[in-house]
Amino acid sequence: MATLEIRDLHVSVDTENDTKEILKGVNLTVRSGETHAIMGPNGSGKSTLAYSIAGHPKYAVTSGTVTLDGEDVLAMSVDERARAGLFLAMQYPVEVPGVTVTNFLRTAKTAVSGEAPKLRTWTKDVKAAMAELRMDNDFAERGVNEGFSGGEKKRHEILQLELLEPKIAILDETDSGLDVDALRIVSEGVNRAQGKDNTGVLLITHYTRILRYIKPDFVHVFVDGKVAEEGGPELAERLEEEGYDRFLAARV
Ligand code: ADP
Ligand code: MG
Ligand code: MG
Repeated sequence: MATLEIRDLHVSVDTENDTKEILKGVNLTVRSGETHAIMGPNGSGKSTLAYSIAGHPKYAVTSGTVTLDGEDVLAMSVDERARAGLFLAMQYPVEVPGVTVTNFLRTAKTAVSGEAPKLRTWTKDVKAAMAELRMDNDFAERGVNEGFSGGEKKRHEILQLELLEPKIAILDETDSGLDVDALRIVSEGVNRAQGKDNTGVLLITHYTRILRYIKPDFVHVFVDGKVAEEGGPELAERLEEEGYDRFLAARV
């Protein structure tokens, strides 16, 4: 049983002329097995939350805490965060030319688990996970993110999720740029990971569409750098009908 706890988190970025506060007191708790959807208008700070938890150097935490099972996540290096059991799929994963998907995944698995997985079972596990995500075998030998389509990037992200078996996974815009079939396959991957490893999932999304496949237990509406409203799955349904207008109107 793992718990990610975010308390009164304030985050700023340096822009050309000044420092801008983007997160203005975020409170959120994600436990093993739970699925939380963070929804909200563009520019509300959703990705900033993901980057901040990931330890992206551009985002300065000015106050508040993030803990995983009581351990101070903000004091950890990026690698330590992964080893502690956090998985952070980025909205725009970087290219790692020359490193094949298989090697990348094995290196990541070794880093996270502290020992190199046995080659034979590892190859089998990768192949099985790839087959479930309807990925071509050749994909394993391609350079990481080198010429990946939007859909391939997302599948690669979920492949990592399934193989790295994190305690808590933060997925930012996993649904963006996916057609309906790909969306369903990727969503099934998230659901599988959760069913198998009891992963706690923080699913960040602008659109409600992915929530037809990944059922959230909790929905948090993010507006202007903090949680403006919280509820159960019914809140997502309401947002699907009404959009974010009522939150944006309330802001002025
Ligand atoms: P969302 O993911 O909800 O669309 P973001 O977290 O990407 O929102 O952005 C929130 C706000 O912070 C936006 O106004 C955006 O322009 C600003 N912002 C985010 N990252 C940076 C950055 N690296 N430099 C400057 N401004 C940023
Ligand atoms: Mg669940
Ligand atoms: Mg975003």
